Amino acid sequence: MLYTSTRDNSVALSSSEVVVKGISDDGGLFVPRSLPKLSLSDIEELSGLSYPEKAKRILSLFFTDFGTEELSACVDRAYKSGRFSDAEIAPLKELDENSFLIELFRGPTCAFKDMALQLLPQLLSAASGRAAQGRKIMILTATSGDTGKAALEGFRDVKGTEIAVFFPLNGVSPAQRLQMVTQEGSNVGVYAVRGNFDDAQAGVKRIFCDGSIKKKLLENNILLSSANSINWGRLAPQIVYYCSAYCELLRRKKLRIGEPMNVAVPTGNFGNILAAYYARELGIPIARLICASNSNNVLSDFINTGVYDKNRSFYTTLSPSMDILVSSNLERLLYSLSGCDDKLIREYMDSLSQKGRYELSPEIFERLGELFSAGFADDRQTLETVGRIYREKGCLIDTHTAVAVKVYDEYRKSTGDSRPVIIAATASPFKFADAVLSALDGGSASSGLDAISALSELTGLPVPEPLGGLYSKKPRFEELIDKKEMENCVFRQLSL
Ligand SMILES: *Cc1c(COP(=O)(O)O)cnc(C)c1O
Repeated sequence: MLYTSTRDNSVALSSSEVVVKGISDDGGLFVPRSLPKLSLSDIEELSGLSYPEKAKRILSLFFTDFGTEELSACVDRAYKSGRFSDAEIAPLKELDENSFLIELFRGPTCAFKDMALQLLPQLLSAASGRAAQGRKIMILTATSGDTGKAALEGFRDVKGTEIAVFFPLNGVSPAQRLQMVTQEGSNVGVYAVRGNFDDAQAGVKRIFCDGSIKKKLLENNILLSSANSINWGRLAPQIVYYCSAYCELLRRKKLRIGEPMNVAVPTGNFGNILAAYYARELGIPIARLICASNSNNVLSDFINTGVYDKNRSFYTTLSPSMDILVSSNLERLLYSLSGCDDKLIREYMDSLSQKGRYELSPEIFERLGELFSAGFADDRQTLETVGRIYREKGCLIDTHTAVAVKVYDEYRKSTGDSRPVIIAATASPFKFADAVLSALDGGSASSGLDAISALSELTGLPVPEPLGGLYSKKPRFEELIDKKEMENCVFRQLSL
């Protein structure tokens, strides 16, 4: 199978090449030229398999230039026993008769990004033999929180790779900082940058675009790449858990084969919900995709009006991983809904970068509305939902998951559509313990480890191991740098 670019249909690359390159030279995103299909009997067959075995079957449809043994080894390393705190990897938890949370936070950093970032480094390491002439791959990542840690955990000690993460001094929570600066591994570097996320992000972009840096690295057999969520190697592993969830509903006899489910996803960069769309394209029966935003509701406005407009206030919310105004992965959906119209996508994206907005054609808007519903929840509604779900269902959810639960409830009330739904639970409630605790007990103002312990005491739930141990770990990376020192850090880390 070959991949092309959303901005240039003449591009044709192998899956190894797209994983190594990350983004197309024209600025577009890589997508399969045609999507594989699963028949209903394929899906029934999948139902009998373990999560890793399902992953191997599904991913082999997309990573066609990987050997079967090779891909199988990648998947086994990513989901090996002990990496995830539940043997099912992404277990389904019943909220009520027809609503199910799919817990995507059982990995080493307690957020759903582990589902893909445990696997991407393995794919990249394997692909580099074919697509990078065996060069070492240097991953550069600017992070506002969850991605940096998940990437560090995924890439630590992976053969043929090195990773440097830059986080803004004033832009990550104390727990997120601690998670990163205590990172273990022989091929990792973590740097606090004076400034905000945009400063760190701009510094990384500058390194990527600097010809002389690229040349010096190439002379030393090193290739730059990124672990950003626009990499196809991050998106494809996310398709697996939607297929797996459908199989599990079949197994529990909530659905008969062929009957569709709904899916609701707390959304930021549009990666997670796009994976559900691709699962549907693959043949998994899905009726509606319900997109949930926080107060940064650019996506829900877009789905409801057909106008994407990022000219609006930016809010810092209690669901920070969804605080985003430009959802990069949306470009892939538009490409698909437009019937692969690369020229139209270029027009939309030009308009977005010049005017900060674009408006869908009536035909594409109609197609969007046939598949997607959308809504948003503000911080007050988010906390109210965390509290209510705990009281009524005895189930503790984090602030991101609560946004999706709330938006789904509204959807169900206004449409009467009560078919079985999978709601993506994207983080452990202990990862956002301060906010979750305040939703339960109303007033307490503890933070950090105190909030984590108090939450555990109040609910009787154990603290996830990676978070509990965090506060007794010794920081390894205490360096604070200026933006202009970033490239020197990269060279030093590579001993150049
Ligand atoms: C990244 C993240 C999201 C948003 O996912 P997208 O794929 O960017 O839409 C939601 N919740 C949590 C906890 C996250 O870390």
